[in-house]
Amino acid sequence: MEIHELTGLELAEQIRQRKVSSQEAVRGLFQRIRSIDPRVHAYLSLNEEQSLRSAKDADDALAAGRNPGRLAGVPIAVKDNICTTDFPTTCASKMLKNFHPPYDAHVVECLRREGAVIVGKTNLDEFAMGSSTENSAFGPTHNPWDLSRIPGGSSGGSAAAIAAGMAHLALGSDTGGSIRQPAAHCGVVGLKPTYGAVSRYGLIAFASSLDQIGPITKDVRDAALLMEAISNHDGRDSTSGPSGVGPCLAEIERPLEGFKVGVPKEFFGEGLAPQVREKVMEALRVIERLGGKAVDISLPHSDYAIAVYYIIAPAEAGSNLARYDGAHYGYRTEKAEDIISMFSRTRAEGFGPEVQRRILLGTYTLSSGYYDAYYLKASKVRQLIRRDYERAFDQVDFIISATSPSAAFKMGERTANPLEMYLADIYTVSVNLSGGPGISIPCGFTRENLPVGLQILAADMQEPRLLRLARAYERETNWRQTRRTAIDD
Ligand code: GLN
Repeated sequence: MEIHELTGLELAEQIRQRKVSSQEAVRGLFQRIRSIDPRVHAYLSLNEEQSLRSAKDADDALAAGRNPGRLAGVPIAVKDNICTTDFPTTCASKMLKNFHPPYDAHVVECLRREGAVIVGKTNLDEFAMGSSTENSAFGPTHNPWDLSRIPGGSSGGSAAAIAAGMAHLALGSDTGGSIRQPAAHCGVVGLKPTYGAVSRYGLIAFASSLDQIGPITKDVRDAALLMEAISNHDGRDSTSGPSGVGPCLAEIERPLEGFKVGVPKEFFGEGLAPQVREKVMEALRVIERLGGKAVDISLPHSDYAIAVYYIIAPAEAGSNLARYDGAHYGYRTEKAEDIISMFSRTRAEGFGPEVQRRILLGTYTLSSGYYDAYYLKASKVRQLIRRDYERAFDQVDFIISATSPSAAFKMGERTANPLEMYLADIYTVSVNLSGGPGISIPCGFTRENLPVGLQILAADMQEPRLLRLARAYERETNWRQTRRTAIDD
């Protein structure tokens, strides 16, 4: 097996046992990135020299008998809306094109503490708004399974980097599905943690009541490893819980017994592609073999989730993005006549069309006269959605569905119709609204050889159990080993 094919955990072990050096792994990885990434465009920035220096630090520490951390020497890719002092952090926006954050995000501090080597920053939909990575101001990312298709979004760069063997671990962010949906489309694992389980300090805010940072990895063990590294209390994010989710990696190989899996009827209706449904139903049969009892359940307010999400997320985005005015930092227009035209021109030139659309939507739904009808109403329905999940988790331990109603679509297919793009978030947005954890894991391929993702949900802070079921399924099916992406053909 070549080094780039190893999972993060496998590589960490090999480095620790000094079977390969981190410098060797990093050098090989950059060679691979140079040959592949011109076709995929997963990365917005890379730094080989600095990565080799961090790799050398890890190698030297190990040679001297010190413990440089659990991720020592392992290359990781970080979504470019997560602040790093040593790379620009652009949010794939012209607005932040040359922004160099003066501080590291909390999760980045965690990675460095564990000795990980941050190799680069990955592409995304501008300010994480989108489901295809086509909204990047710096050009789209391509799906390594079929370069004519989208990798999903908004963390498309991280998912594509993992799928194409251009990083061993990655971080993404998930506001309405942006970790899980690209993971599904790229045939990798993506975990959205419970709201509050991972600090967002240094994550550039999109919709603050929904945003979470989480792992995108080759397998479930890596997701557990990375989750352990980033989930802990941080006083700089007021929503950070008193403690993290606790040990995950040691938990996941333990057998599960006598558990119930909810199959919500609302998630298997109209709009679900037949081939995707088939794969999810096959996965359910595997889970039954593993000891799960399938239970038909209902999440009665699911029909409202998209509408509620697309009111709340743009409203919060509109507020969060008010800070980009050309005065403090980031892009500033060169054509201003006075301060007002400086603000408006900066924003008209600096933000792409999808971001502008969200700001318009958010401003509208928050404006006086409309607030009660839209934002307040949506907030109330959000509570009903949350209650649906609380009730469901009184009955069952897990809930399963497809992650996305179809496999990866062709580039450009949905750019002309934003509503169609929004509707594809149907299975992912509700747990952002309700707050619980969700994982997407590979569950097979369509006839076109495109990966299909299985979404599994659990109650708040149940990540260790969620990962345990995901791992049991993965051990049983091992989809990762069965096919190769088109990129190596
Ligand atoms: N696709 C959703 C949106 O466009 C979710 C994005 C996200 O999770 N960051 O808002």
